[in-house]
Amino acid sequence: MAGLELRGIRKDYGSTAVLKGIDLSIADGEFVVFVGPSGCGKSTLLRVIAGLETVTAGDISIDGAEVTRTAASDRGLAMVFQSYALYPHMTVHQNMSFALENMGIAKAEIAARVDRAARMLRLTDYLQRRPAALSGGQRQRVAIGRAIVRDPKIFLFDEPLSNLDAELRVATRKELAALHAEIGGTMIYVTHDQVEAMTLADRIVVLNGGRIEQIGTPLELYNRP
Ligand code: ADP
Ligand code: ADP
Repeated sequence: MAGLELRGIRKDYGSTAVLKGIDLSIADGEFVVFVGPSGCGKSTLLRVIAGLETVTAGDISIDGAEVTRTAASDRGLAMVFQSYALYPHMTVHQNMSFALENMGIAKAEIAARVDRAARMLRLTDYLQRRPAALSGGQRQRVAIGRAIVRDPKIFLFDEPLSNLDAELRVATRKELAALHAEIGGTMIYVTHDQVEAMTLADRIVVLNGGRIEQIGTPLELYNRP
């Protein structure tokens, strides 16, 4: 079956249950946004999907193949973090190409992927700069570019715009929507910003206390009579 499937996902930290049984199916190409109060488990759920946290119970499959115990690097996904996590001593080009070199991808292919991502993100003129010489918005676009060049089936975003000022947040949000329209991957996105959720999501998942409280399209969730 195509897409991402979560079944009965539970996550405990010590004696604290943080995820209390999450069942969720996400279709290929869907843009799904996780919202909910601070501490409800949004980041934990994203990190579980990424393979950065193990689960206490439950299983995860991608396109019908179980990945519950598969390493993060073998899940075919790419994550964009809130803090840009760029390498300060590397240029923009190196930041985007580094992981691909380690994966053994051919140089010409790497160059083509970096060029394409840079064009999409309007970074072509900045490829030889280091992160310190970029604005916050440009840095976040590099972080997004680093995910795009991996050519993942699934993108994971953990509050990617929360370090940007209001104007840049709106601009970058529009770029993300355009990006999704252009490259069409599955996008799973954590935010506590309701406007981001409403404008980006095909479907919104409202978490509360480690459970799914509501799930639906923006219209279904926020426009009810
Ligand atoms: P959200 O992203 O919705 O704000 P999180 O997933 O970050 O929530 O956290 C959910 C709960 O799990 C919080 O109560 C948090 O303190 C706890 N938590 C998160 N990570 C850890 C950890 N590594 N060890 C212990 N508790 C954690
Ligand atoms: P690698 O070069 O093998 O990807 P890294 O040190 O860059 O190793 O990353 C360590 C782990 O984090 C790996 O599992 C890798 O797949 C993952 N990782 C690194 N960057 C990203 C990213 N942008 N998106 C998703 N996963 C990432």
